[in-house]
Amino acid sequence: MSSFRKRALDEFSSHKAERFYFENQPVSHYFGQKVFDLEKMRRFLSSEAFDAVQLAINEGVKIDRKVANQIASGMKAWAIGIGATHYTHWFHPLTDATAEKHEAFVDPDKNGGVFENFKGDALVQQEPDASSFPNGGLRNTFEARGYTAWDPTSPAFIIDNTLCIPSVFVAYTGESLDMKTPHLKSLQQLDKAAVEMAKLFNPKTTRVNVMLGIEQEYFVVDEALFRARPDLMLCNRTLIGHTAAKDQQLEDHYFGAIPSRVMAFMKDFETEAFKLGVVLKTRHNEVAPNQFEYAPYFAEANLSVDHNLMIMILMRKIAKKHKLKVIFHEKPFAGVNGSGKHCNWSIVTNNGVNLLSPGKTPRNNVQFLSFFISVIRAVYEHHHLLMTSAASLSNSYRLGGGEAPPSVMSVFIGTTLTEVLNSIENMVISNDSEENRALKLDIVNKIPEILPDNTDRNRTSPFAFTGNRFEFRAVGSSVNVASSMFILNAAVAQQFTRFTKLAEVAIEQGLSKDEALLKVIRQYIKESKKILFEGNGYGQEWHKEAEARGLKGISDLPEAFKSFLDSKTKKLMNETEVLCEREIEARYEVLNETFIKKLQIEARVIGDLTINHIIPTAIKFQNSLIENVLGIKELFGEDEYKKMSEKQLITIKKLSRYIESLREDSHSIIQARKEANLIDSYAIRAESYSKNVLPYISKIRATADKLEMLVDDELWPLPKYRELLFWR
Ligand code: ADP
Ligand code: MG
Repeated sequence: MSSFRKRALDEFSSHKAERFYFENQPVSHYFGQKVFDLEKMRRFLSSEAFDAVQLAINEGVKIDRKVANQIASGMKAWAIGIGATHYTHWFHPLTDATAEKHEAFVDPDKNGGVFENFKGDALVQQEPDASSFPNGGLRNTFEARGYTAWDPTSPAFIIDNTLCIPSVFVAYTGESLDMKTPHLKSLQQLDKAAVEMAKLFNPKTTRVNVMLGIEQEYFVVDEALFRARPDLMLCNRTLIGHTAAKDQQLEDHYFGAIPSRVMAFMKDFETEAFKLGVVLKTRHNEVAPNQFEYAPYFAEANLSVDHNLMIMILMRKIAKKHKLKVIFHEKPFAGVNGSGKHCNWSIVTNNGVNLLSPGKTPRNNVQFLSFFISVIRAVYEHHHLLMTSAASLSNSYRLGGGEAPPSVMSVFIGTTLTEVLNSIENMVISNDSEENRALKLDIVNKIPEILPDNTDRNRTSPFAFTGNRFEFRAVGSSVNVASSMFILNAAVAQQFTRFTKLAEVAIEQGLSKDEALLKVIRQYIKESKKILFEGNGYGQEWHKEAEARGLKGISDLPEAFKSFLDSKTKKLMNETEVLCEREIEARYEVLNETFIKKLQIEARVIGDLTINHIIPTAIKFQNSLIENVLGIKELFGEDEYKKMSEKQLITIKKLSRYIESLREDSHSIIQARKEANLIDSYAIRAESYSKNVLPYISKIRATADKLEMLVDDELWPLPKYRELLFWR
């Protein structure tokens, strides 16, 4: 066997299940140990400092310098008390990764020694330079420095003896360079708009929070096998590789017993996650072989996003101890399901009322319907932008694949709510008789009775209502979900504001409050019903129907990215003040730039695999066949050998054809890249990459996969799907 693959397989066989992180006590005893949470703040801060942090968290009040020093000093005392040696602002540049630049707490003292130092300035603001992150041209001038600033709404935590301070990342000129800033702004806007709207129902509402529960899907493979595949190493996905004879058709992996090595790994990262204050609730095998999922208990959205990113760091780190690799890529293996990051999204008031939970009384149901239909209206209005926000090169291999949400947006609400919306829409509203009023009440009355039984769970929908929340399922497993959530929040905030205004106008015109609300609900139902779809989202017919309904899907990424530049998007971002025009343009550029770079890497890697791994192997195999045929000829003579080796000769020819085709395509993909690279504009270069480079990736793969089926298994250099995906 190819020595490379054999070594990897031998190493794999020697890897055992083993645990490294043990806490022999109930989780509640060590939960949050590594987080500077309320309880620690109470212990380590003066009451003045404590109150200031609470005001900053709850009301966004700025913290002054003196108090910042006090907070820093308390935080330092806590952190070094449990072994921290460094601190860092922890931020989320436009890369889907997190960034940190560690500083030691120690400073030299006058006597040649050191002392632990951490001042308010260092807590509140840092200038990590960090000029190498994508910025979409926002930092092209020398004075456009990047700053990080503390986000007190997400508590500081310790990973690996480093105190991490969640932060935003902005340019000197004020534009955001990260994922967190627009997300925070969108949450603020949604809060404002939702409070105004909630006041139509309950004047005591002062705050509305977005709650987010992020389900994370991922693959786990053995590290030795991972390292033996250049494509996994550099692209986090297999660019070639024939599917195994058995994949997920028996459905024997889903919810099955978790393999012991993976279980040991899960327990370890869960232990550490609990210490970081993350309530990891659910773990299970997913549909594809070696695919798994964890889900935390939902939390306030900003915190939830931070938690998700923290856990991703932990998982990568702890997997290493287990000689495993976690793969967050959306489609690491062809032919089996890909991974997503389902975002369960709801909105909750300061009184603890989930505005998306149907109430027990008609009054509460009018409230529910108002918020519910406004979210749907928002998704309809910005359906293409929202879907684009989830689109990336890696996710494009997953979306629309007949196992993941289609790449056109729709909303699933279940039969009960469909009926309710239909009856409201068809209600006769003019000359409101007694009978009519009763009918209205009857309609809104219907919801709570039927809803608990409504277990309708359409898995094919990208955006589904699941009883008391919406679940956005198109978002990819590798990303920072803030990139989609800020758009959803902004879009929803826009519709809440509009709804409130429309209702107020109707009331001014003399309608009773309930009538006014129902009137706007009806208007929203009519305006947005094209986005509602209850059928099979995987079916071909749906694509045709979606098109007929005017719903715009995504087929080409650079084309889709343009929806960021739509006047509708600009209006949305402008109205909600989530992104300014320059920030939108910067983000658009970063999307194109990232797309190009990732595709460029894939194109290079597949070129390397083809030229340096696959073709030489195919030639070696072909030579052995030729040798064999020549031997037969020598032994049996010219007349006999043709009869005896007919199939063999066909295979030799076939091999030549495939080798030729691989050579030709690898040459063409290089040419296509070279031509594209000459184009200055990222947007146009991305188009060229999409049109001229991308098609070769699948074309080369198809040929390479045919060769894999033809060539002697002993010679094949790369670990195969059956080796990567099935635990012995
Ligand atoms: P499923 O896979 O069946 O969709 P999971 O249990 O895997 O469900 O995940 C559901 C996620 O939704 C969890 O993170 C859960 O905490 C979250 N969730 C539940 N209720 C709400 C809610 N009201 N708002 C936001 N998220 C919620
Ligand atoms: Mg789940």
